[in-house]
Amino acid sequence: MTATIGIDLGTTHSLAAVLRDGVPELIPNAHGEFLTPSVVGVLASGEVVVGAAARELRVTHPERCASCFKRHMGSDHQVRLADQRHTAHELSSMVLRSLKQDAERHLGAEVHDAVITVPAYFNDHQRQATKLAGEMAGLNVRRIINEPSAAALVYGFHDRDAEKHLCVIDLGGGTFDVTVMEVFEGTLEIRATAGESMLGGEDFTDRLVAAVLNREGLQLEYAELKQPLRVARLRSECEQAKRRLARDESTHVRLPGGDGAFGEKPKRVRIDRATFSRLTTQLMERIAAPIGRALRDGECAPEEIDDVILVGGSTRMTVLRDFVTEYFGKPPIMQLNPDEVVALGAAVQAALLDENAAVEDMMMTDVCPFTLGVEVAKEFGGQMADGFFHPVLHRNSTIPTSREEVFSTVRANQQQVEVRVFQGDARRVADNVELGRLTVANLPPGPAGSEIRIRFTYDVNGILEVEAYAPSGGRKFRTVLTNNVKGLSRDEIDQAVARLQQLKFYPSEDLEAQRLARFCERMLGELHPSQREHLDRTLDMFEEVMARGDRETFNEARTTLLMVLSSLGIEYDESSSE
Ligand code: ADP
Ligand code: MG
Repeated sequence: MTATIGIDLGTTHSLAAVLRDGVPELIPNAHGEFLTPSVVGVLASGEVVVGAAARELRVTHPERCASCFKRHMGSDHQVRLADQRHTAHELSSMVLRSLKQDAERHLGAEVHDAVITVPAYFNDHQRQATKLAGEMAGLNVRRIINEPSAAALVYGFHDRDAEKHLCVIDLGGGTFDVTVMEVFEGTLEIRATAGESMLGGEDFTDRLVAAVLNREGLQLEYAELKQPLRVARLRSECEQAKRRLARDESTHVRLPGGDGAFGEKPKRVRIDRATFSRLTTQLMERIAAPIGRALRDGECAPEEIDDVILVGGSTRMTVLRDFVTEYFGKPPIMQLNPDEVVALGAAVQAALLDENAAVEDMMMTDVCPFTLGVEVAKEFGGQMADGFFHPVLHRNSTIPTSREEVFSTVRANQQQVEVRVFQGDARRVADNVELGRLTVANLPPGPAGSEIRIRFTYDVNGILEVEAYAPSGGRKFRTVLTNNVKGLSRDEIDQAVARLQQLKFYPSEDLEAQRLARFCERMLGELHPSQREHLDRTLDMFEEVMARGDRETFNEARTTLLMVLSSLGIEYDESSSE
């Protein structure tokens, strides 16, 4: 039996890891890289590509690519991809399928079992959708764990004797999480977690894009609609600029023309750290609130935190690092790679499930990040008013957990009660998120105020089960609320799986060539017209040879293409392709 693999399914990047010979190791993809961009594209041939090749394609053909779909996880929102529409879990399953393939090639055996990480602040729908995505990709998802908890597991793995309070700050592409925890003797106890599932590095890039467009008198939303190619290329420029600012004090952004081309002398806009910091002040304010909440819930003052661990690519931003240093009064820990730590932790969790000897002295307890409860009616001056929220499980309860509360009927001989389940902390249910409902029928006759008991059970995967019954008789009603992704029946899920099976995936052994071709296509759009022709012709030749599939001429054509690129002063490597 092969080991269970750990997967970090990210908004921008995904990666897989496995525990081998007693240590967690990352699994390389078809390009020999650990990070696979969470981008899905459809080639002109109709074949589906995942990863770096799709990310190249996204710049020249945004309409044939989908990215950042993790933001829609758990909803029925459909993302357009060429002439089809897909939900976030379908697109995610394509990414997971490609990671599974990479793992199988790396391990030389079939892979069935996986642990997949989610942002701590993901709700039940989002967790269930993630699990479904794994199943659609042919994986048995043994556990869904929180990303910051996974990061802490790596920390615990390497430093088992530590006795400390930790705070994990995870700012990725699209989500933000804070977790406060305690480690002692190999045991990790999560004390509290908080966050926002709609805040990440992409928002910081967007602020930059919007600011550059604003200087031209353009609104981002409008430009996106009218000049999608220009915005796609500008976004890629701003992304690179944002990354350079992590290293340099100031940098430039090239402004593409209305058609998306750079032209001979593109306009250059200077951006320095101070400007960037000003543009993102509001985003930084949204970062501060969950940190405060997690510390309060975890009953820990900022100065009591021994180590701050940074996770997620966006924690490289100096605005974030400066903020954290000031907030906690000490610089964060730097030795763990913020891109890799979650996947490595998922591999440690996988090893715990496999009862691997390398982790037999480790243990972790996690918490439920939300308050969960039901709708109740309240009496005001003899009048019943419904729409009020009554908590059953409080946020940051250690999981697994189960709690029963007693409620009562409103009317005499009431036959039925509709239990509506919500998540959130607001007093009125309308301000919380509805997770589902459960109907308790055939209640035994009785006066108003007869007892109804409702039990909430929250398991280690973050999946909620609700039970309701009348103690005076009648049967128990039970539901695993999140059995189905919002609005999806079993039939619809089966149909989605069937549709995915119809898709033709581009062979992974040719992905590297495909990526090079798409890279050249992107570069064609950036070159001066007088320089284009040579590269254009060489690319045509390369694509023709690719189609023929003759190894020897292929290698020759590839070398020629790389030579042409370098004669134009273009470097082909990973860092240039973001
Ligand atoms: P996710 O887990 O959501 O996929 P990642 O942890 O991979 O996210 O982080 C991706 C985000 O990190 C992107 O928004 C990217 O712009 C940002 N990022 C990566 N490297 C840097 C850098 N050097 N400076 C600033 N932001 C960066
Ligand atoms: Mg991440």
